[in-house]
Amino acid sequence: MQRESWDVIIVGGGSAGLSAALMLVRARRRVLVLDGGAPRNGVAAHMHGVLGRDGWSPLELLELGREEVARYGGAVRTADVASAESLDDTSSGDAPGFTVTLATGERLVARRLLVATGLRDELPGLPGLAEHWGTGAVVCPYCDGWEVRDRRIGVLTTGPRSVHQVQLLRQWSPSVTFFTNGAPTADEDVAAMLARGIVIEPRAWASVTADEAGRLSGIRLADGTAVALDAIFLGPSPVPNDGLLTGLGAATAPAFGDGDWVGIDPTGRTSVPGVWAAGNVVNPGASVPIAAGAGNLAGAAINADLVEEEIRTALAG
Ligand SMILES: Cc1cc2nc3c(=O)[nH]c(=O)nc-3n(C[C@H](O)[C@H](O)[C@H](O)COP(=O)(O)OP(=O)(O)OC[C@H]3O[C@@H](n4cnc5c(N)ncnc54)[C@H](O)[C@@H]3O)c2cc1C
Repeated sequence: MQRESWDVIIVGGGSAGLSAALMLVRARRRVLVLDGGAPRNGVAAHMHGVLGRDGWSPLELLELGREEVARYGGAVRTADVASAESLDDTSSGDAPGFTVTLATGERLVARRLLVATGLRDELPGLPGLAEHWGTGAVVCPYCDGWEVRDRRIGVLTTGPRSVHQVQLLRQWSPSVTFFTNGAPTADEDVAAMLARGIVIEPRAWASVTADEAGRLSGIRLADGTAVALDAIFLGPSPVPNDGLLTGLGAATAPAFGDGDWVGIDPTGRTSVPGVWAAGNVVNPGASVPIAAGAGNLAGAAINADLVEEEIRTALAG
């Protein structure tokens, strides 16, 4: 097998992965992006807060990104990566290298690896919710709040940060209801919500309802009461798609109040030499511009790391 078929393999072709790829191909690196084709915001028709592309389809943005990477000779393939391993190849001296195995069994080799595989949003078990995820039921006020300004907004309790989320949404509408599903709310939080006109609904929830056109229409409570809503906001549990990183031995630590996350330095470098990570896989709060910025920085850092390796090789003669 050829030792250096690619300078960099990037797993994940969302905003983070494609931004890194663009930096690397423009630095004349041989880059392969392997992408499963399921970006986190692929469920949404429009994205917002993305300068210059506000209101675009997320999928259109990524299509444009793939074209830009290809324009400089980068390769983008639709493929699921099953595993990645450090090369056990003493001929390469100290230089790291990796084999990446696709779900099909095909194996590929690269000098550096960037993992930009995003995260999964685990929704609470409320019947009907999943059907509206990304359309009527959403996570981010800055992404979707403007579109439902002054409308009837419901916020589902999913954890301690829901109290912050409901107060944020009061910025977009005076008609906000906090659905606690019977969970206790601290006295000071109740007082702060009532002071800003937020309605607290403590009854158990039963399902999300839809109108005849299939659009979200509200929440049915366990006692049969129907509460009409125009949008639901919630904070799903973010689960990083970091199996490739942990499989390589990348160090993790408790972070973001949601379990263990792979740790990175400011450029996206993990604890495994030669392995970088960017975007939602290491930062659940990364919006499209933040994920793109992290990929941009990681791409430049990977190129610099390759240059360092090339200096060592040149000096060794
Ligand atoms: C409903 C919703 C709406 C949103 N709206 C906005 C918005 O309006 N504005 C905004 O800025 N942000 C928005 N976001 C956030 C946005 O989705 C993220 O910021 C962005 O997707 C992060 O980019 P990423 O590259 O890290 O991950 P992703 O975009 O999720 O890309 C990861 C890619 O990796 C691939 N992948 C995963 N595992 C593998 C594997 N093993 N092998 C190969 N490929 C793999 C996936 O298929 C996917 O294509 C929204 C999120 C949600 C859930």
